[in-house]
Order: sequence, then structure tokens, then C-alpha cells
Amino acid sequence: MYRIIPLQVAEIMAPLGIVAMFGDMQKMLVAPVFVFYLDGGDKKILVDAGVGSPDSSGIVHGFPVIGGGEQGLRQALSRVGAEPEQIDILILTHLHFDHCAMLPLFRRARIILQEKEWQTAHNPVPVARAVYEHELFTVLERMNLVLVDGDCEIVPGVRTLFLPGHTQGMQGVAVETNRGTYVLAGDLLYSYYNLDPTITSLKDLRGNELTLTPRPDLPFFPPAVHIDLSAWYASCWKAVGVAGGREMVIPGHDPAVVEKTFGE
Ligand SMILES: [Zn+2]
Repeated sequence: MYRIIPLQVAEIMAPLGIVAMFGDMQKMLVAPVFVFYLDGGDKKILVDAGVGSPDSSGIVHGFPVIGGGEQGLRQALSRVGAEPEQIDILILTHLHFDHCAMLPLFRRARIILQEKEWQTAHNPVPVARAVYEHELFTVLERMNLVLVDGDCEIVPGVRTLFLPGHTQGMQGVAVETNRGTYVLAGDLLYSYYNLDPTITSLKDLRGNELTLTPRPDLPFFPPAVHIDLSAWYASCWKAVGVAGGREMVIPGHDPAVVEKTFGE
């Protein structure tokens, strides 16, 4: 049985309109960038590989970022007493710039990625070009990369779930814990609002309360970044179904996830 420990590697600032499609693009919120440590097995397993460090104007890929880079990753991993070089298995949800930036540090890891994500990241649809940075992931060609096709058991108690929609090849991770099966949704769901559109507000990392438009008429509400909304909705139902309930699904960038541990 595993415990899921979200480790914050950076803060990223983004408009509310990215977290919720049609939302206010003038209202900014500060959100966490995570890697997730799966504790409890005999292998050190991590989900995702962090974001780069900001340039001299504090920007990564057009977004204001605090932390990140090698230092942000090392500090985050030190919370569980691990170093990137010790990670045995690295599961990449997808190849957007804030999920794969520190790959070269994971020298001995077996790296699990969907084949579809690998293919489409090299030739994304035009609107998605800006969120992929080739230099960050071409290093995978010289690493211990394992391309999987669909749902796949990685070790007993940990399996990948093909969850396209945010990207064409995104995967989540289903993790068995003492409290049942949790699903790490990656960026399929940025926040709990995407998972439960009856929510009326979101508190960011600075404690700012942002008002949301509740949509109780909809089962899920998409972020602005998606490649296929039909696939996105199907993936949401799949994630909730595998997890056995919405409360067991963990979104990828929600401030409420910081400092929590799931499954104990
Ligand atoms: Zn993403």
C-alpha cells in the first residue's frame, strides 16, 4: 500500500481563465507546481519532473514562476529524504514544460510515458506548440524511457491510466492506498473546481479568494488548456470511476493539495 505525498517544487502565476475555461483572464492566481512521491513500496517512485527556474525577469514560458529548477526539485524531494538521482521509477503525466523540465537529474530512473504523448509532443497541434519545449524532453532519447500504450501496471499497486483530453497522450496514475484507490489526474484537472463545478471560490497560495461561477448543471468543468473536449469528459468519468469517487481524485495544480498526504 502506498501513500501519496505531493511535493511543491514551485509557484506559478496564471490567469483564472486558464484554470476555468471562459474565466476572467485579468484575475491572476498563484498555484503550485507539484511532483508527487509515492511512498510505501520498495522502489522510489515519483510522478512528474518539475519546472525550470525562471529567467532574469522571473518568467518561465510566459508565466511568472518562483522556485523551480534544480534547487526547487531538490528542496521538494528532501521532504521525503530523496534525491532525484535515487528515483527508481519516474512516471511522466505529460510533456508540458512544467512537468518535465528536470529530466536530466533522474539518471537512474526508468521513465514511463504514453507513446501517444511522445509522438504528439514532437508535432503538437499548432495551438499547443507554446506549452511544449522540445529541448526539455529530447533528452529522453538517451535515458531509460519506457513508452506504454494505454493503462499499464507499473508495480503492484501503481498503474498508469490513459486520460487524453488535456493533451493527446496524457496519463494519470492510480495508486492503491489503505484508504482505497486514489487517482492522480495530472493536468486533466488543474483544480477541484474542474472536478466539482458546484464550488464557488478558490483560495490561491497567497490566500486570495477568487470567485468562481458555479456550474451545477455540468458534471465537470474544463480548464482552458485542452486538445479534445470529448476525450476530456470521457477521461474525467474514467478517473472518477477508477478512483471510486470524486473525493479520491487529486487535481494537478490545486493550492488545497499543498502539504497534504493522501492514503494514510
Ligand atoms: Zn499541462
